[in-house]
Amino acid sequence: MTVPEHLNNLKGSRLSFELLPPVKGNSINSIFATLDKLMEFSPPYINITYHREELTYVTKNGVKQPAIVHKRPGTVSIAAAIKGKYKVDVVPHIICGGFSQHETEDALIDLDFLGIKNLLALRGDADKRLGKFKPNPEGHQYAADLVSQIMNMNKGIYLEKYVENPSPTNFSVGVAGYPEKHKESPSLETDMLHLKQKVDAGAEYIVTQMFFDNRVYFEFVKRCRDLGITVPIIPGLKPIAVKAHHEMLPKTFGLTIPTELSKQAKKCRTNKDVWQLGVEWAIAQSKELLANGAPLIHLYTMSRAENIVAIAKSIA
Ligand code: FAD
Repeated sequence: MTVPEHLNNLKGSRLSFELLPPVKGNSINSIFATLDKLMEFSPPYINITYHREELTYVTKNGVKQPAIVHKRPGTVSIAAAIKGKYKVDVVPHIICGGFSQHETEDALIDLDFLGIKNLLALRGDADKRLGKFKPNPEGHQYAADLVSQIMNMNKGIYLEKYVENPSPTNFSVGVAGYPEKHKESPSLETDMLHLKQKVDAGAEYIVTQMFFDNRVYFEFVKRCRDLGITVPIIPGLKPIAVKAHHEMLPKTFGLTIPTELSKQAKKCRTNKDVWQLGVEWAIAQSKELLANGAPLIHLYTMSRAENIVAIAKSIA
């Protein structure tokens, strides 16, 4: 089923989980171990993030040298493995960054052949080396362009013009939305016009960036509806888990931590206390969101199960 079909047929579980591929060299069993604990909550689908190559430093012969590494490969194969093992729908993320449009076309063909029907289409993070996003010279600059490419394939329009009798794909596509605006955007108004472009290009639903004050989500949904964005808007939540989070998350994602949460986090003596606070805060957020029209809660798990299990037990 597609994500919109799931949203129309939710029975029981109103949670979806987002997992990261394991760090290169780790076994896929680490993902399965996390999922073994999460599947008891019968999520309608599982998201798997995509991570492009990044710059790191390796020490060779005692000298520190820059190296481009792909730390978390395997999104497509992990998605297929999860689908096969747990008989659950999967939503691999697909990004513009690092890919030419032709490479994207080939990846979409792989996904179609694997019977994967759902995708979350994203631009991808800015290049940490440059401090800004730089597309592949033959790739897409914005997620809306990626959505358009996928929608063309759904109509049987491929980039390769020599393709005879092209077979249309049947992807259902979601996109990201930012209730507190995307970090690089000059204003929420501008960012929301760009969000509308993604929906107009064919995205069928929106998954939000994490937020910690539900008023931010409710206001965002209202503004979307006023703009004529009618697709489902799925709130994304992440429980804070360590003390550093309440300072690090605003810096990294340009979001706000409510004063009350920040105050309580500062009072915590250990990371275990912060972990507990994060769980309780996310439970309270989830309950209020579900009671007030949110279709489902999308939990950013960071591939750790324990806090997510604690949240899921309280709201499932
Ligand atoms: P876009 O929609 O392309 O927007 C990026 C910026 O460009 C925004 O500021 C927007 O306002 C602006 N913009 C858009 N269109 C135009 C235009 N026509 N003219 C001028 N400006 C424009 N990253 C990963 O690398 N891998 C993942 O798996 C991943 N998963 C994510 C899942 C979710 C639910 C979310 C919320 C984010 C995820 N991200 C992931 C992070 C995401 O890639 C970054 O936030 C990225 O910086 C923006 O991606 P986007 O798809 O929202 O970009």
